[in-house]
Amino acid sequence: STLYCIDGWGEPYFSVNSSGNISVRPHGAETLSHQEIDLLKVVKRASDPKHSGGLGIQLPMIVRFPDVLKNRLESLQFAFDSAILAQGYGGHYQGVYPVKCNQDRYIVEDIVQFGSSFRFGLEAGSKPELLLAMSCLCKGSPESLLICNGFKDAEYIALACVARKLLLNTVIVLEQEEELDLVIDISRKISVIPVIGLRAKLRTKHSGHFGSTSGEKGKFGLTTAQILRVVKKLEQAGMLDCLQLLHFHIGSQIPSTALLSDGVGEATQVFSELVRLGANMKVIDIGGGLGLDYDGSKSTESDISVEYGLQEYAAAVVQSVKYVCDKKGINHPIICSESGRAIVSHHSILVFEAVSASSYDSPVTSSLGLKYSVERLPDDARADYRNLSAAAIRGENETCLFYADQLKQKCVEQFKDGSLGIEQLAAVDELCDLVTKAIGVAKPVQTYHVNLSVFTSIPDFWGINQLFPIVPIHRLDERPTKRGILSDLTCDSDGKIDRFIGGDSSLPLHELNGDGRGSGGGYYLGMFLGGAYEEALGGVHNLFGGPSVVRVLQSDGPHSFAVTLAIPGPSCSDVLRVMQHEPELMFQNLKHRADEYLHQNDDGSMDLASGLAQCFRNMPYLSPGLSCCLTAANG
Ligand code: PLP
Repeated sequence: STLYCIDGWGEPYFSVNSSGNISVRPHGAETLSHQEIDLLKVVKRASDPKHSGGLGIQLPMIVRFPDVLKNRLESLQFAFDSAILAQGYGGHYQGVYPVKCNQDRYIVEDIVQFGSSFRFGLEAGSKPELLLAMSCLCKGSPESLLICNGFKDAEYIALACVARKLLLNTVIVLEQEEELDLVIDISRKISVIPVIGLRAKLRTKHSGHFGSTSGEKGKFGLTTAQILRVVKKLEQAGMLDCLQLLHFHIGSQIPSTALLSDGVGEATQVFSELVRLGANMKVIDIGGGLGLDYDGSKSTESDISVEYGLQEYAAAVVQSVKYVCDKKGINHPIICSESGRAIVSHHSILVFEAVSASSYDSPVTSSLGLKYSVERLPDDARADYRNLSAAAIRGENETCLFYADQLKQKCVEQFKDGSLGIEQLAAVDELCDLVTKAIGVAKPVQTYHVNLSVFTSIPDFWGINQLFPIVPIHRLDERPTKRGILSDLTCDSDGKIDRFIGGDSSLPLHELNGDGRGSGGGYYLGMFLGGAYEEALGGVHNLFGGPSVVRVLQSDGPHSFAVTLAIPGPSCSDVLRVMQHEPELMFQNLKHRADEYLHQNDDGSMDLASGLAQCFRNMPYLSPGLSCCLTAANG
């Protein structure tokens, strides 16, 4: 586990068990040892139709643990409750989950259910997000906040006003000054007294990648002058009482508590000024930004790590709000946060399979063949070869590398000219690989082909270079003998993972058994901490759709679990429909052709139509168990 730094990023949810498999601790630090769940067993049960109780759900697969989600929510609430108690803070903490992080129905429903005893609410940033938040919060606590962020048109604002009519504790947060006129106008028409918040552009700036929207020039929020104009307008409309919440968002992955305290302190000054100007201020909403330590380094050096945990985060927020409020002599407000990443990341694990590996170390020519091929090289290339051999005998590594490089360059040029055959070029490549390997400058890095689309399942790796921990979920009691990069199924050169946490350009991996699915079965890898953002951002590049999803609950009995939901990923038909194709029509066209073919050639053994129909129904990923639906149809 130290090889993959699991203790660093996985605590308290992931560890390695005595079988060498990843063990999930669904209740975090409170998990008893008999409650631990072996992730490989979950994958086998969900995917293997031959496994007892096997569901035949295809990989790649997201395995969700709602108990982990519950534990994250409760831990966040506990961190704030403890800080509030310890510091004698006069208000309470009441968080919301920003649904943009993952709008999956079951995740949002779970959060509302798990959080209803402590009034946990939701944040929406668009009309469909508001619709789903409204519907889910009908089952939540009536006090739970429903925060409406994002750019708004009249319809969005009308919907938010309707939400208040439906007794949902809705706050319309002004993102732009122009939204205010709409709010005043529409709320009067619908006869609702709105609760209004405003998003302030703070001067505090988070300089990392995730902070590009912060600071005075940030995309969102109101400047100081705009805030004053909003107050004036509300006063003139007799609605200053409606202004009750101040929101800001410094950016995601806030690296340090120092930056956090700076931002929260500045925002609390704005808050206290709004109190002074007569607004009915009740809530300070500190936005998202509670970061995760993706590489376990607890360092502020990179975007993927933070130096604090939940407790330190909560303590810094409470202290900063309290300090300013006490100095200004105002009541301590309700503290709201919109933590997304920190709530949903841990509970989803993306599991995928390495199906084959290619390497540079499988010679196609024997050493005799190599010598023969090299001897047939043109004169100047042969001279390089002789110099290379002499340097090798003298043990001069640098000179060896120099001649190897020169030899290779010359041969490539000659191949491009058409004066060198493909066998000679292959022989030279091999020779150069042998030299670098013998000298030990380059450990051979293999390419592991994985049944996955990076664009669909890890878009932030491609889009913003974000790294996630990736680890084999089994064989962790066996020293990995290889190093590899992961190459996905898309025919796109960006569809590979060649950077890993810890700054490595390859990952320690185990040798595949035979073709990767030999006697020991497949080789399964897990991408961890990817529960936020990745699913909604992912696209359908090459028409690979989303992975299958299974939901796993711990159940009675030692190490027992139940798969309570198993949803296969989108089929070929589903992804074709996304691009406006009509699979039913396509099938009919193809069936017509197949019927014509069979009419002329039929020997009675082919059922092309049902094979084609099956292809439309299957997922686009490699499906070893089902791969031959067309040949299976054949007799
Ligand atoms: N609130 C707002 C307004 C955001 O823009 C975001 C995301 O960037 C969040 C909350 C969630 O942030 P995080 O996932 O860092 O908690």
